[in-house]
Amino acid sequence: MFARNKVSRSGSRTRTADASHAPFVDPAADLPDCISLDPLNEDSLLANLLSRFKRDHIYTYIGNILLSINPYKPLAQYTEQAIADYKLRTVAISQLPPHVYALADHAWRSLRDFYSDQVIVITGESGSGKTEASKLILQYLGFATGKSKELETVRQQLLLCNPVLEAFGNAKSIHNDNSSRFGKYIELEFDYRGEPVGGLITHYLLEKSRVTSQHPGERNFHIFFQLLAGADVQLLKSLKLQRNTENYLYLRNNHSNPSVWHQSDKDEFFNTKKALETVGFSAEDIVNILRIVAAVLKLGNLIFTPVSNIDGTEGCSINNEYELEEVATLLMISVEELRSALLYRTYSVGCSGMDPHGSGGANCFSRDSTLPSTNSRTFLGNSHQQHQQMLLQQQRTSLLSTSASMVGASMVGRDMYQMMDGCHGSEVGMQVTLGSRVYQDAKDDFVMTDLSAAEATTGRDALCKALYYRLFTWIINSINERIKQHGKRRILSILDIYGFENLPTNGFEQLIINYCNEKLQHFVTEIIVKEEQEVYMQEGLEWSPILFPDNLAVCDLIEKHNLGLLAIMDEECQRPCNGSEEAFLNKVGQVFQDNIQVEVAWGLPSKSSDSTTVNAFRLKHYAGWVTYSVNGFLEKNSDLLVRGLSQSMYQCSHPIVKELFPEGNPRRTTLRRPATSGTQFKVAIIALMRSLRSKNPHFVRCIKPNAFKQPHHFDVQTIQNQLRYLGLLESTQVKRNGYAFRQPYAWFLQRYKMLSTVTWPHWGGVAIEGVARLLRDLPISATEYAFGRRMLFIKNDSTLMQLEDFRRIR
Ligand code: ATP
Ligand code: MG
Repeated sequence: MFARNKVSRSGSRTRTADASHAPFVDPAADLPDCISLDPLNEDSLLANLLSRFKRDHIYTYIGNILLSINPYKPLAQYTEQAIADYKLRTVAISQLPPHVYALADHAWRSLRDFYSDQVIVITGESGSGKTEASKLILQYLGFATGKSKELETVRQQLLLCNPVLEAFGNAKSIHNDNSSRFGKYIELEFDYRGEPVGGLITHYLLEKSRVTSQHPGERNFHIFFQLLAGADVQLLKSLKLQRNTENYLYLRNNHSNPSVWHQSDKDEFFNTKKALETVGFSAEDIVNILRIVAAVLKLGNLIFTPVSNIDGTEGCSINNEYELEEVATLLMISVEELRSALLYRTYSVGCSGMDPHGSGGANCFSRDSTLPSTNSRTFLGNSHQQHQQMLLQQQRTSLLSTSASMVGASMVGRDMYQMMDGCHGSEVGMQVTLGSRVYQDAKDDFVMTDLSAAEATTGRDALCKALYYRLFTWIINSINERIKQHGKRRILSILDIYGFENLPTNGFEQLIINYCNEKLQHFVTEIIVKEEQEVYMQEGLEWSPILFPDNLAVCDLIEKHNLGLLAIMDEECQRPCNGSEEAFLNKVGQVFQDNIQVEVAWGLPSKSSDSTTVNAFRLKHYAGWVTYSVNGFLEKNSDLLVRGLSQSMYQCSHPIVKELFPEGNPRRTTLRRPATSGTQFKVAIIALMRSLRSKNPHFVRCIKPNAFKQPHHFDVQTIQNQLRYLGLLESTQVKRNGYAFRQPYAWFLQRYKMLSTVTWPHWGGVAIEGVARLLRDLPISATEYAFGRRMLFIKNDSTLMQLEDFRRIR
């Protein structure tokens, strides 16, 4: 059990009221902006949301924040007419209902009118509607911005990159049938007229473990299903595939019934292909992409059978050779080369100057106590060509005794990691040992060992994850090449990242996803609640401080230099033999023994099997406690692909695959240990936060109405829980008493001086007095603004828009 167990799991989801049960409902309440609620408290907030939800008013403002509740059904409010209404503003914006189009429009106008970078941050738990919101924003920007012919291609490319990203990066999860399994940050570039001229997509850690296994009730990435359902017979034949998903091990989720997505995979395949074409991939590119997808599926089917060698050592062979041959054809590699990479591990042994951290260990290999390698036969050779000969030779004889006499034993007892260089993403791999039989010979020589069936299976899975992940990265890089602009530009970014998750069994991926959500939650509360209040107080405005839940401690706990969870994990991964999960958990227990937000547990009953137990820790996140099983943590964090596999991929004549594995080039000698997955992610997230901070933010906070993906079902407890951990009541209080816009007096005067004859063309006095005179001449209520020490504060966005309208008419 957990070391401390003071806090119970929060948010039990039993109070499933629909509209008729909620005692607090005020039938009259249906306010588009929660800051007008009177009284303002949690109940009135909930009542207002419920009342609106019943009328399909899924959007509600909290000042300039947009709250969106997933309706789980198609709504008729996303038409071209609706876009035109928000764009043309034939009625005042305040008269139009809250909408994601309004927020998109506001961000775009802010970019154009103030020529400053904007970012739309979309947050919410998994299944709350973030990706749908991001698509609607893109749709709005695509339609609402100008229609110049020269930019039509860019606009189409920007709109259609989404189906491609979703096909390869989304999958059915228990929380969401179309769950994003990667983070997406789209930076749209606009020229001075507010016309889209290009873009850049950054992606964050795809959950590649899904390629080889899925949680109960979940599916692999959509593209696999789309391809099998949608490809015509000829294409299937050329890809050596069969239509039935049951024929593929990676698509057969052993834990659950064959899962079917509600949308037609067949139609989606057509859309994905069309989108690939529109984004600019040639027919040849598309076939090459699909060959890799097919190869992953077929590699997953390879079955390794244990084989006892005549010298008593153990190896394995491939049961279904025909699959191997077809994979080799798809990847354009010789069957022997591929078989050798999958069945044997080859190590170069010119290992002078190695160090255990891998900084200088060219051609080194590693030891892994999990592998029964003292059983393995060892072969020696001295060139890549000889490699093939060796393969044939090993069928007949064991060279172990010969090799032992041939070489010295200068490396005996050293624990060295197999390194790889230039690894862009990272792949789950394994560290391999030769036990005490490690030999050294002249430069370029190599040692070869048999792999057991289990090792070969692990290597195969690592290869499939690497292939898929690198293909995903390649697709995004290719899209970026097509849509990138290098001119002087302004940026409107949209952030749509995987939502907070708490599954029956959580692992390394969930820790990464939830860490990311912690950082975003921190960013949002900092901006909306904390910094806002600090500015009011610094500027001398009358203000009663509002307390808010702060999650900085949890962010620190995960990312702190040297002492955070990620650092402890890295330390363990750097140990000889890749450390152990037990040692990692022990250290977590020691380092955080006085921290009430972490608990460690040994031998918890497993959720997926009655008889097994797991070792775990649990963390108190902003959205509640989550238990993480440490099983597989270190392997996923190390994320190495053994060299022989990357070298074999480099040998492929397939034009994309070769490009994906540059470190497989035998001529590359500078080998260094790549950063771990956790560290790479942390660095990327810190850079992302820096980018968000440099832009003017707009927030969409998505809410999930129930855990069953059902329409018309407003689960009070589920929503209340989200309102609480998102700090929405506090945000409403700040927004209700605060101001939507602020600028220094000189800036304000410069921008609006033409609106009064007193300030036009020049105001000779002090800026603050000029602003006061200017405002007096305008039909704007005095309650709409306040004077600070250095800045003018404007209460509502609509007032700012009004000022902009005055300026335009002038
Ligand atoms: P994740 O973090 O798992 O990626 P998410 O927050 O991105 O989740 P979405 O994929 O956007 O969630 O939404 C889940 C599903 O809810 C959608 O596939 C769609 O069926 C439905 N949905 C979300 N928003 C809307 C909307 N505005 N109108 C209609 N249906 C919606
Ligand atoms: Mg999503």
